[in-house]
Amino acid sequence: MDYQALIEEVYKEVNDLNLKGKVADYIPELAEVDGDKFGIALVDLEGNVYGVGDYEEAFSIQSISKVHTLAMVFHKFKSKLWSRVNVEPSGNPFNSIAQLEYEKGIPRNPFINAGALVISDALISKFENPKEEIIDFINELVGHQCVKVNESVYQSELDHSERNTAMAYFLKAYGNIENSIQEVLETYVYHCAMEMCCVDLAKSFSFFANNGYSIFADREILNESHNKRMNALMLTCGFYDESGEFAFRVGLPGKSGVGGGVAAVMPNKFSIAVWSPQLNEKGNSLKSIKALELLTDKLHFSLF
Ligand code: GLU
Repeated sequence: MDYQALIEEVYKEVNDLNLKGKVADYIPELAEVDGDKFGIALVDLEGNVYGVGDYEEAFSIQSISKVHTLAMVFHKFKSKLWSRVNVEPSGNPFNSIAQLEYEKGIPRNPFINAGALVISDALISKFENPKEEIIDFINELVGHQCVKVNESVYQSELDHSERNTAMAYFLKAYGNIENSIQEVLETYVYHCAMEMCCVDLAKSFSFFANNGYSIFADREILNESHNKRMNALMLTCGFYDESGEFAFRVGLPGKSGVGGGVAAVMPNKFSIAVWSPQLNEKGNSLKSIKALELLTDKLHFSLF
């Protein structure tokens, strides 16, 4: 398979469609990003990198980081974590407060904001310096120091975190937060403010395609059983209330973020990251999803 030719073809076809969405602006700093940026990087399991467009430019990975933080705590809790957070698609917006009250403080899944706040709380309980250790973990997955936290995005989101703060208090009221609300919010917003380029993001997802073994860190990150479950969660819950649509159109485990990034994996073949900041009304990148749909249509193999 000539992956370079494939992603170049996809890139051109998507650009020709002239799709128009809206750059996220509820975190004011994100609204400054050039909406026309578009890049794709694919990394195979030999470590070969293929890229097109703005694939080497760092962007705000936002919710994609929820996958990294879950991978960090998964094996630390065994099954106990799953009494604090469910594994069902939410069918509701990622920042829904109503659902949290209905379901008595147990978030639907770890990738909606409420679920990720519980995971941040779990990180604080299990790691001495959670913020630094998140960065170290991702740098290790990529094989070099690449992660930066954008301080203005971090500050901008902290200054506008009313909804997440409300959710954290709800969770605490139901006994589902152990640490201080401020620390949980800061840890959560910190990992959302990380910046990476498509190549490094795809590398950080490579182990999900490789039964839990990272060729860049040269060690097993998750055992096969945990890795299988992470991929299942990404497939069913990775795209907010559009997860079914993504599975239908693309059919890969993946995760999106409001910075316009999408990271996905084709198990036993490759990992891929796509970035384009213009979003649809569900908060998913229009071009990134279209690119992955075209790509999986053109491949001669699939997950199913
Ligand atoms: N930091 C963002 C928030 O909490 C993440 C949203 C996302 O990418 O889904 O709203």
